[in-house]
Amino acid sequence: MEYVLHLPGGDPRTPGRKRAGWAGNESARRNPLTRIVIIGGGPGGYEAALVGAQLGAEVTVVDCDGLGGASVLTDCVPSKTLIATAEVMTTFDSSYEELGIIVEDDTPHIDRPARVVGVDLGKVNRRVKRLALAQSHDITASVTRAGGRVMRGRGRLEPGQAVDGSRKVTVTAADGSEETLTADAVLIATGAHPREIPDAQPDGERILNWTQVYDLDELPEELIVVGSGVTGAEFAGAYQALGSRVTLVSSRDRVLPGEDPDAAAVLEDVFRRRGMNVMSRSRAASAKRVGDRVEVTLSDGRTISGTHCLMAVGSIPNTEGVGLEEAGVKLKDSGHIWTDKVSRTSAPGVYAAGDCTGVFALASVAAMQGRIAMYHFLGDAVAPLNLKTVSANVFTDPEIATVGYSQADVDNGKIDARVVKLPLLRNPRAKMQGIRDGFVKLFCRPGTGIVVGGVVVSPRASELIHPISIAVDNNLTVEQIASAFTVYPSLSGSIAEVARQLHTRKSAGE
Ligand SMILES: Cc1cc2nc3c(=O)[nH]c(=O)nc-3n(C[C@H](O)[C@H](O)[C@H](O)COP(=O)(O)OP(=O)(O)OC[C@H]3O[C@@H](n4cnc5c(N)ncnc54)[C@H](O)[C@@H]3O)c2cc1C
Repeated sequence: MEYVLHLPGGDPRTPGRKRAGWAGNESARRNPLTRIVIIGGGPGGYEAALVGAQLGAEVTVVDCDGLGGASVLTDCVPSKTLIATAEVMTTFDSSYEELGIIVEDDTPHIDRPARVVGVDLGKVNRRVKRLALAQSHDITASVTRAGGRVMRGRGRLEPGQAVDGSRKVTVTAADGSEETLTADAVLIATGAHPREIPDAQPDGERILNWTQVYDLDELPEELIVVGSGVTGAEFAGAYQALGSRVTLVSSRDRVLPGEDPDAAAVLEDVFRRRGMNVMSRSRAASAKRVGDRVEVTLSDGRTISGTHCLMAVGSIPNTEGVGLEEAGVKLKDSGHIWTDKVSRTSAPGVYAAGDCTGVFALASVAAMQGRIAMYHFLGDAVAPLNLKTVSANVFTDPEIATVGYSQADVDNGKIDARVVKLPLLRNPRAKMQGIRDGFVKLFCRPGTGIVVGGVVVSPRASELIHPISIAVDNNLTVEQIASAFTVYPSLSGSIAEVARQLHTRKSAGE
């Protein structure tokens, strides 16, 4: 069937693409310049702004901190920039001897594993902040160039909807001045902020949340990381690589409880081998300053002491004070905004995207939700959000990248799939590079051999997962993956090898 796009102005465009149907309201149908107001300028907001402007709407993005949002200013971009330094250090530290590199001064410190490289954390953090600000400026320039308006201030959705379907958003600037905007559609993309434990309030000096670590000038000597989810594991690994002595406090049996168990086991083993103190089944109850140190008390009464403590115990959606419930936007018990698969909220003309929806806390998903909202409201071709094709990565060393159905889905019977896992130890390129830890795992449907998921644990797994993502997205079979050439020697050769093994087992009727 052919689909034809009708923009509010009535131009038929981009025939031949799938669309879920017209969803714009009456005002958008009649108004040649549809007015979109976006509250929050993170990936959910700014990507939507770019699409909205590209589709001819009059777009205003309101953000109180700067475009790019927490993703660019405090979360994703800064942490990955810090990790870039850590990655170089770990790669060197863990392989220089085996690769025959000689260093001048290799004297081991009395109570630390031998280190041959050190770090100037002040310099690293200045670079982190510089890059984050530059990226925020670039995004602002892109949105402005595309024709969007960028406003600095706090946006609030006003209750009620006019008869033409439009809504009002009030923007309060830092100096208290207010401006009210009229919108045919509003996108809420206000993100989230770090969760705090009442008895472990960050002071920005020694008890820190992840937005505050970039103000440190000196490397923490002994860092306690509370929380072993993705954020906690990434920071614990990074500071360990930079030279801190790290204790990772995990309330669960193992680190990364939400990830592939084999991958989490590899990472925990690597962490311990590198000297990290990983404390499982240990829940932090409080953290307090004791002079120049921090004392963390666990719920079973034990205490741990360090020079610094980083709290990484989850996020809270920024959905308070935005006028949501007054405007008829339904919130979940967790405070996240309820949305459907095309980013609509329960209030007509109000869409939501990103961390404030609690759908999947990833910048890529936030951006996709924002774009989908615009495609939907502006009547462009739109496919509903499909979380089964999302690829995600944990930026530790080794990295853990995943896509599609998981081991847990297979184990609990959510999907019937065959699984093959191949350790990287057997990969020739890995041997040459001194890589010992990691594996490639693929999940495929029995019978058809269609690839439904995969896990890669290796250096730069974030890059290696892409062929598996393409396979999952396009229902490719293990045969198709196995028959494509890979470079010899290469880590991606292991992906083809796993596919070959799954193909053989399928042919053998296993
Ligand atoms: C440490 C860390 C590392 C991460 N690393 C990655 C990664 O590597 N890859 C990845 O995909 N994801 C990563 N994430 C997740 C990613 O950062 C989030 O999923 C992403 O930021 C969500 O984007 P968003 O658009 O929903 O909101 P945000 O990026 O949080 O932006 C929301 C913006 O809205 C503003 N705002 C809030 N309320 C208002 C208001 N009333 N008026 C105006 N403005 C308002 C906020 O100040 C903020 O600027 C990481 C998260 C953390 C915590």
